[in-house]
Amino acid sequence: MTSTYARARVGDVVALIDDLYPPQLAEPWDSVGLIVGDPDDRVERVLVALDPVCAIGEEARSIGANFVLTHHPLYLRPTHSVATTQAKGRLVHQLIRSGCALMNAHTNADAQTGGVADILSDMVGMSENRVPLVANDDDVSVGIGRVGELREPCSLAEFAARVARVLPSTPAGVTWSGDPDAAVRRVAVSPGAGDSLLGDVCEAGVDAYVTADMRHHPASEHLEDGGPALVIGSHYATESPWVAMAAKRISEAARERGLNLDVCASTRVTEPWHGHLSTKEEQ
Ligand SMILES: [Zn+2]
Repeated sequence: MTSTYARARVGDVVALIDDLYPPQLAEPWDSVGLIVGDPDDRVERVLVALDPVCAIGEEARSIGANFVLTHHPLYLRPTHSVATTQAKGRLVHQLIRSGCALMNAHTNADAQTGGVADILSDMVGMSENRVPLVANDDDVSVGIGRVGELREPCSLAEFAARVARVLPSTPAGVTWSGDPDAAVRRVAVSPGAGDSLLGDVCEAGVDAYVTADMRHHPASEHLEDGGPALVIGSHYATESPWVAMAAKRISEAARERGLNLDVCASTRVTEPWHGHLSTKEEQ
């Protein structure tokens, strides 16, 4: 049987992903797009993952992927070396040796409709009538984070329990701050590191804010000022549900374009924390 699907090249896959997650939606400080690869090289299998780390390069090699899309950039700052003496350089070498391209879609994937922030919003039970926490200058329908009402309002204790139930299992689990009996109706979410957005969260008039990587001082000062309750998951847990959704969207878009592309979601957990102990707990 002959396939009517065309063979894809790296450049085709980059164009397809740029359409799904337009690079112009990325924050000015961000770095998105093709990191390793030749646009003319053939691609049969794409691997989607959260982190550009050697375990993902190894997974790509083991499944015969010729293209890796990660959410996080490999280099956010300029580098002077891709030598194998450092992990990032080792990944670059590993990918080139196995004939595999690397691309990232970072804050453009956060901002886009159906992207990282919308997926977390759906998971925590936010209604579809929602707006970005920080809207894009050119298109206010997209942007960083989301704000909206819960489909089923509940107490803060119940909401934190719901967030813990729906996030992927990670050692850090969920920590939260606020009155456990307070009503939670309107919430904000920002997957990944979100303590820089606490001012926007206060202005949004929400009851609770779901994010990750919350530092002590911003949290303490926010709560001292009477800011909304905080529900904090791990960076990996709040963002990794995007991986499977992105793989599905890329696969569908490839089919629509008549491209012969097998798209896989990574099965490697790149959460950097491997254990959790509650301190001073009765054994
Ligand atoms: Zn992130």
